[in-house]
Amino acid sequence: MIKRRKTRPVYVGDVKIGDDAPVIVQSMTDTKTHDIEATLDQINRLYQAGCEIVRVAAPTEKDALALSEIVKRSPIPVIADIHFSPRIAFIALESGIHGIRLNPGNINDEGKIREILEECKKRNIAVRLGVNSGSLEEKLLEKYGYPTGEALAESALNWSEFFEKVGFKNFKVSIKGSDVLQNIEANKIFAEKTDIPLHIGITEAGPAGKGSVKSAVGLGILLYMGIGDTMRVSLTADPVEEVKVAYQILQSLGLRRRGIEIISCPTCGRIEVNLPEVVKKVEEKLEGETLPVKVAIMGCVVNAIGEAREADIGLACGNKSAILFKHGQPVKRVSEEEMVDELLKEIKSMKAEK
Ligand code: SF4
Repeated sequence: MIKRRKTRPVYVGDVKIGDDAPVIVQSMTDTKTHDIEATLDQINRLYQAGCEIVRVAAPTEKDALALSEIVKRSPIPVIADIHFSPRIAFIALESGIHGIRLNPGNINDEGKIREILEECKKRNIAVRLGVNSGSLEEKLLEKYGYPTGEALAESALNWSEFFEKVGFKNFKVSIKGSDVLQNIEANKIFAEKTDIPLHIGITEAGPAGKGSVKSAVGLGILLYMGIGDTMRVSLTADPVEEVKVAYQILQSLGLRRRGIEIISCPTCGRIEVNLPEVVKKVEEKLEGETLPVKVAIMGCVVNAIGEAREADIGLACGNKSAILFKHGQPVKRVSEEEMVDELLKEIKSMKAEK
């Protein structure tokens, strides 16, 4: 069991982050925010995939003005990314938004930041305080030479102190760099010094395949250390993929369970069925299933019995057939042609039982 870092609670709308809440999964839309229907359509797809908080970009006034309609119709809390502009921040705050993302390093005007925080406090709006390697303050760049993990943590600690000094506590922090080790170091230093919840992510991780691996390594290490109250996997892909990968990472560490977890063997010379095809079909048919079920699909009986015992349901394949297991007990023998349908039928009945 992973012992999670003790943090104070922060609420984005009705979603609790930190304290005893599970690691909350976030994503970000890639539509033009002023295209309200397209944005809401994507938010709904993200919600169906398990996204719990969504961020939308508000780079222009036109986008910020679309927020009130989006907030009204979104099934999950919405955070506005206000980039460099305090003017846009104020439009967003009036829209009823649940949270804003603010990179003080981008605004670089303590007076303006204080004004935004006062408005957030008045309206009970949460803030994500963002520190990025690309917008680190000059004085820290001079001190450290480049954006080291230590430099990023120092920036986040300094701004957190500023937020608290002006009486604002409803915030979480994200410290992001695209380098995995820099990221881990920065979050670790920050986590040791405060109880402020952390939003973790590897920024600009890359395309779906490589980016998922990079995120799994970077975020997996942090989560294993108990660090991370909410997370986003950043991929150059459909944002729904980000949500799926986030749950896979959390599932691998036993931190969340959602949907089907498939345990399948790598196959070898013992195989006597087309296992990759069976796994592909099962994956496709169970796409979007939210019932947390562990399914073992093994090529032969060598490891199958043991794996099937750990799984909720499984197939131990043999010569053009398989033994269907449920909760570690053999249920029946099925042919290669019928094994996918039989497995799905059993999962359906498990769902009905629940
Ligand atoms: S489960 Fe059987 S078929 Fe699959 S890799 Fe192991 S030994 Fe090979």
